[in-house]
Amino acid sequence: MLHRQPYTAEDFPRSPLMFYYEVTRACDLVCRHCRASAQESSAPGELSHQEAMALITQAARFERKPTICFTGGDPLKRADLFELIAHAVSLGIRSALTPSATPLATFDALRQAKEAGISALGLSIDGPGPEVHDSFRGFSGSFDRAMEILRFAEELELPVQVNTSITRRNHHLVRAIAERLTSPAVKMWSVFFLVPVGRGTEETRISQEEYIDVFRTLYTLSGRVKFAVKTTEAPHYRVFVRSQGGDPMSGRSAVGRAPLGITDGRGIMFVGHDGEIFPAGFLPIVCGKFPNDSVIDTYQNHPVFRALHDPNNYRGRCGKCRHRFICGGSRARAFALTGDYLAEEPDCFDERSGGLFSPEE
Ligand code: SF4
Repeated sequence: MLHRQPYTAEDFPRSPLMFYYEVTRACDLVCRHCRASAQESSAPGELSHQEAMALITQAARFERKPTICFTGGDPLKRADLFELIAHAVSLGIRSALTPSATPLATFDALRQAKEAGISALGLSIDGPGPEVHDSFRGFSGSFDRAMEILRFAEELELPVQVNTSITRRNHHLVRAIAERLTSPAVKMWSVFFLVPVGRGTEETRISQEEYIDVFRTLYTLSGRVKFAVKTTEAPHYRVFVRSQGGDPMSGRSAVGRAPLGITDGRGIMFVGHDGEIFPAGFLPIVCGKFPNDSVIDTYQNHPVFRALHDPNNYRGRCGKCRHRFICGGSRARAFALTGDYLAEEPDCFDERSGGLFSPEE
């Protein structure tokens, strides 16, 4: 069991809370909204075993050790995965794993991941049943596999964060998806709002009215379901919760246990399969490349990371908004739609819809 001090806003400029490591791009699925545009076999330039071990060793030297999320592609396609996990855990790093729902995610594979030291699983579920989910994932049987992985996790007593990507295909199915999450293994539901990068450009994002509908549904559900509910790439949900009289940090309407204000490059960093360093998986600005560049130095000193650490640098409505320190908008969506990672969140509600934007007086 790893004990550590809670991550606070003072940690933002020095250490990330979440360190995402894309161990491989290889994956047997062809998901429509894949950030990595994953492929069947490893892409050229993937970090070697020694390089990957050295990356993890370096990540453990942050002043406050981040949680490493081993992601992909499908991390189970990487032969040395369990060794990498065990190495991270031996250095006192809390580790999570996001397997793809393919035949590789067997009970035995997940048992080995647990034995290596994984403390949580991330699992994608994008529909209430096979019809929507499998068409997202490009793999018939993927939904059933995801449900089977949930059963494995239950048996192994591994907590699961379910990740759901919201697009025009499923925004009206949010309640139905929540109703399928009956497994006691589900401890967190992270609802991801599409950022048009990778294969995600093929999907259209939802309208402002649809955002409001989804936010309302999530807020209502958060008082009823047994797991915490949070959003990814929609930090303005935190502001919405407050506007409804809720506390974004409370158990009832929890948007996560992390301090408010975590966003791309601010509490988050992402290292690609080839060592390229980004502020987040959905913010494709290369800020360095491991092993030539240190992940610690890049997080603390690269001009893009430094700009992202301070919401006073944000532009447009986000720069003027009194909520910028707890929200700040999705920097990834700002970049994807305007080319400026400091621009205002394009999907924040405007005044006509009871606006979340609230200027400082
Ligand atoms: S204007 Fe920006 S900081 Fe303010 S609520 Fe909207 S997204 Fe958040």
